[in-house]
Amino acid sequence: MTGIARWLIAGVLAVACAVAGVLVASVVQPRTVAEPQVTPVTVHVTTTATANPSAQPAPVASPVGIDLKAHSIDDPNSVWVVVNKQRPVDPKNFEPDDLTATGIPGGNEVTRSAATALKRMYAAAADDGAGFGSSTAYRSYNFQKGLFQQYVNQSGVAKAETFSARPGYSEHQTGFALDLYDLDAGCAHTECFANTAAGKWLVKHAADYGFIERYPDGATKVTGYKWEPWHWRYVGVELAQYMRDQKIDTLEEVFGLPPAPDY
Ligand SMILES: [Zn+2]
Repeated sequence: MTGIARWLIAGVLAVACAVAGVLVASVVQPRTVAEPQVTPVTVHVTTTATANPSAQPAPVASPVGIDLKAHSIDDPNSVWVVVNKQRPVDPKNFEPDDLTATGIPGGNEVTRSAATALKRMYAAAADDGAGFGSSTAYRSYNFQKGLFQQYVNQSGVAKAETFSARPGYSEHQTGFALDLYDLDAGCAHTECFANTAAGKWLVKHAADYGFIERYPDGATKVTGYKWEPWHWRYVGVELAQYMRDQKIDTLEEVFGLPPAPDY
């Protein structure tokens, strides 16, 4: 190899590394990239992919430093527990030991941590003229059993399973989930909740209190449930804000779990 050839290869590698560096930086800290810089970064990514397809960045788990292993996703006492049609509450007859009154209109109970956050969220929403109440929150295994059977009697199993969980598979049993209605417009358990003052306020602010919309529009194939703008899940501020900022819609996706469209 001639000196010139070595020099040329070294030069190409240096450029490739620099471009890869830009790419990694864009993946690691997407939020630090100001809007006007988005286009040039995209050009670098395209150039890198064309020039050297093998120069893929290693997967980056936590762009904003969140540790996605910080809490269990299996333990029903954990604020990050993921319950879906593939992941029943374990044990199936689990009952939280710190159930507390929600402290908002409608009553019901949630875990103590969820209740504390909920009261703060309610106060802020009410201040903004977007007050809400809770139509249901914690539901025991036996309550869910009766409820599901009631829906099956009304609509048949196939339809009931698009909006109601089998006993032992309901997130409500963890005490971290609740269904909300608008204090003025109502819209309990109906999609019109999304257009109420409370529904709109929650989409904007709930993450700052640690709540996520658990069954978003368009995520049925992942969550197993149709859009439920009224169903909110407490996961803590860190994870809720992370999901909002990273535009990750579901717990399944943020934790890398398989979709759970069916049992
Ligand atoms: Zn619900």
